[in-house]
Amino acid sequence: MKIPFADLRALHAPLKNEFMGVLERVLENNSFILGPEVRAFENAFAQFAGVEHCIAVSNGTAALQLALLALEIGPGDEVITVANTFIATAEAISAVGARPVFVDVDPTCYTMDTAAAERAITSRTRAIIPVHLYGQTTDMDPLLELAKAHGLFVLEDACQAHGAEYKGRSAGSMGTLSCFSFYPGKNLGALGEGGAIVCNDAALANRLQMLRDHGSVKKYEHEFPGYNMRLEGLQGGFLAAKLPYLHEQNEARRTAAQMYNHLLAGSEIVTPAERSNGKHVYHLYVVQVDERDALKQQLGERGIETGLHYPVPLHLQEAYAGLGHKRGDFPVSELLAQRILSLPMFPTITPEQVEYVCTAVMEFTECLTARV
Ligand SMILES: *Cc1c(COP(=O)(O)O)cnc(C)c1O
Repeated sequence: MKIPFADLRALHAPLKNEFMGVLERVLENNSFILGPEVRAFENAFAQFAGVEHCIAVSNGTAALQLALLALEIGPGDEVITVANTFIATAEAISAVGARPVFVDVDPTCYTMDTAAAERAITSRTRAIIPVHLYGQTTDMDPLLELAKAHGLFVLEDACQAHGAEYKGRSAGSMGTLSCFSFYPGKNLGALGEGGAIVCNDAALANRLQMLRDHGSVKKYEHEFPGYNMRLEGLQGGFLAAKLPYLHEQNEARRTAAQMYNHLLAGSEIVTPAERSNGKHVYHLYVVQVDERDALKQQLGERGIETGLHYPVPLHLQEAYAGLGHKRGDFPVSELLAQRILSLPMFPTITPEQVEYVCTAVMEFTECLTARV
């Protein structure tokens, strides 16, 4: 059996006619960039995320960068985020000229450790960017309280958490501004690049609309020098066509995750912890295991594709060598980088496929146990 890590073809095949309809409409209206398809998607996605405004942009990294710019964060400022995330979170901070300040994650849910964030606050800190990693939100209430006490903005990096919940609140509805990615492999993905910022603040929404489009709301009238970070009309249409299925696809991911949890229970494998007051949408199903590299190889030999999210924490990346960190600075992130393995997870994964993966994983761990 061959089991892919994700299966976008299976997800998109039933929507082919809807996608062709989008293409026809865009060709008809010449609405290649922004336009009615994007506007319709923005309205639908704002409703989905439980917020008033959605500003669709070219990708998730641009969303983070524009969010920081909208809050006038730049040179001389510090922004706190986690060492255990995709580099885009930190790159956006660097791109606006601010300094990323890394903190460690909690060892159970792998999201920002509030106490660590508190210790990292200085007089230069302007914002905190918690990352809702793998599809589960950060423990937001203590973090929002901390930010409020210090007058800091909270920007949610919800790029992996479309539809996740925290105490009944949607991912993206809790921060001052929240960012989503519609990279094809995300829980909601475009057929190309895409991203969005969501918020409840009309003035910020207005500023973001201008920032993404050359500082302008009216063509050839520019209030300030902005950027070209607009979503394409086609992608807006494709995303609007896919959005109505997102909820049931997230539920399918949750069902697969429960089956994994059940089949891997009682083994050496550490399965993902789900907060009792939240809803995890399993963008990734990440386990911890000893001898991870050997397991990854053995699964590969049996036709099972797996991933590593992420093999090198940001403070140990060459790109951030200038911050002067060393091994040992963020022990939880460093340990996770050695032990984590992302198993196949996608909405159309079948019970037989999950069973096949679990059988292969259990055989590996039983061999390990027998050896010691
Ligand atoms: C995907 C991702 C991003 C960046 O999104 P792009 O659309 O690829 O630019 C940012 N942060 C996190 C946590 C992500 O997973």
